[in-house]
Amino acid sequence: MEKLSYDAIVIGGGLAGLMAAHEIAVNGYKVAVISKVFPTRSHSSSAEGGIAAYIEENSDPNDNPDYMSYDTIKGGDYLVDQDAAELLSMRSGEIVRIMESWGTLFNRQPDGRVAVRYFGGQTYPRTRFVGDKTGMALLHALFQRVSGLDNIDFYNEWFSLDLVRDDKRIVGVVAMEMKSMNPVFFKAKAIVMATGGMGMLYAHSTNAYINTGDGYSMALRAGAALKDPEFVQFHPTALYPSDILISEAARGEGAILINNKGERFMQRYAPKKLDLAPRDIVSRSIITEIREGRGFPGGYVGLDLRHLGEEYIKERLALAYEAALSFSGVDATKEPIPVRPAQHYYMGGIDVDITGMNSDLIGLFAAGEAACVSVHGANRLGSNSLLETLVFGRETGRAVAKFLESHTEDSNSLDNEVDKIVDDAYKYTKSESGVHFGEILNKLRNVMWDEVGIYRDEDHLKDAISQINQLREMSKTMYVTDKSKTYNTEFFNALELRNMLDLAIVIAQSALNRKESRGAHFRTDYPQRDDDNWLKHTISYLKGNTVEITYKPVRMTKWKPEPRVY
Ligand SMILES: Cc1cc2nc3c(=O)[nH]c(=O)nc-3n(C[C@H](O)[C@H](O)[C@H](O)COP(=O)(O)OP(=O)(O)OC[C@H]3O[C@@H](n4cnc5c(N)ncnc54)[C@H](O)[C@@H]3O)c2cc1C
Repeated sequence: MEKLSYDAIVIGGGLAGLMAAHEIAVNGYKVAVISKVFPTRSHSSSAEGGIAAYIEENSDPNDNPDYMSYDTIKGGDYLVDQDAAELLSMRSGEIVRIMESWGTLFNRQPDGRVAVRYFGGQTYPRTRFVGDKTGMALLHALFQRVSGLDNIDFYNEWFSLDLVRDDKRIVGVVAMEMKSMNPVFFKAKAIVMATGGMGMLYAHSTNAYINTGDGYSMALRAGAALKDPEFVQFHPTALYPSDILISEAARGEGAILINNKGERFMQRYAPKKLDLAPRDIVSRSIITEIREGRGFPGGYVGLDLRHLGEEYIKERLALAYEAALSFSGVDATKEPIPVRPAQHYYMGGIDVDITGMNSDLIGLFAAGEAACVSVHGANRLGSNSLLETLVFGRETGRAVAKFLESHTEDSNSLDNEVDKIVDDAYKYTKSESGVHFGEILNKLRNVMWDEVGIYRDEDHLKDAISQINQLREMSKTMYVTDKSKTYNTEFFNALELRNMLDLAIVIAQSALNRKESRGAHFRTDYPQRDDDNWLKHTISYLKGNTVEITYKPVRMTKWKPEPRVY
């Protein structure tokens, strides 16, 4: 098999991957960025509402970085590592200024300063935005910046199969060019997993089709742990029935949620923060309204923007307006938008420290949604994720550069292991009969939605685990219809399913294990938060079919857990 050698490989061309690659490259190292789509098509480009930042000269005069950390920690239901939240807040203004200097044109106030809007759980408004297409603007600016660096090579439309390790040390990754289906061993001393989220595990998700959790599963198969894998975020306002995101920016700009009686029902659940309570609370409130018969036929509630006025809606919330019109036939200037919750973000991720380094495997790093640092704890606040990709993408890139300074020795040749990775991929898809992979995929997505979703309990989680195990077994004899050796997308989709099945079992087992309710993990059989027993991170490994769970303490600096009321 062909071999290519780099100092570091970044898997993922979204915001986190590009920022990490930038830092490694400007420190003089040779980097490859491998991405299964062209970088600017990464899910980062779909981010709508904005990026949170405390900017001294342009924030509310009463605000400060401590308030921002506090909001993040309380929003995450105290499972947040507080040193990480403090770093996120401290670096937020600087990173937004850098992105501005690299060409992101943020919306302005009339006096020329950067505009700001409220997002859920914020004591003071901190979200900076480019209309409701913020991710697109950031990703294009960053891609343009890194494209100018000589020591970064891009491998676009290349699919990473698995990491290669020599005992406890990462030595590279096997990836396949999707067009020629030619596998290559990319040798490197450090690998950054910046592979983004996993929304496709759920029947309803706002995520792109490429978000299949490949990075989590590659890390698990290589022997690294996931941190807090039971914590999955459901966004309250996905467009009914297509599940396209209607950004929290809409509520930030003043939109309100109403039930079939026309009531502003959030008054019942979060009397102070109302529609801008954190996402876990608003999602559960919507489901409760629907279950108790106050939803609209089909199962949704209304998001009412009408009082904002046509001109304002079309300028500030253009994407929401266009999506509602094109995909639900609703003119948001005249009628409420039909919305319901859908999977949106993954708080769990590859277990890394504040520098992005994993402690199971030497040379493994992760950043962005693929990582769990943890800044989001049990529930992420809106607009903190774009910020995390850039702040921790940069921290991780710097840590890799430092790591490379002291790790100069060459690794052994591991030809057998490399060949086995490609053989396993083909073996996985070679059956002629059995079940089509698409059938397993649909079943998996429904099981996760029905039984490992917004509301959870022991019976459903046990049933989910048993069903996922059956699907894992079935997948051993599944087939793909397309046998071609050029750009076989069905083959790659089947490999994505393998990743989804590995991740699903870890999520479901970890959710069964945590016997309390915290943030987005809501157990109807254990409805209270239990700090005495559960104020700790779940650390989950996958050994064959068995999920092994240990724990790590939550790092506290100055905020003691208190009741989470809004
Ligand atoms: C619709 C939507 C709107 C959002 N709006 C906001 C918002 O307004 N504010 C906010 O803060 N957050 C928002 N988020 C969340 C935020 O956009 C993401 O969490 C963040 O952009 C993730 O960035 P990333 O760099 O970690 O991953 P991504 O941008 O998802 O990039 C992942 C990369 O990994 C590559 N990859 C994955 N698997 C493989 C593989 N096997 N081989 C090779 N390459 C691979 C992909 O090609 C891609 O380049 C939103 C999310 C969605 C879905």
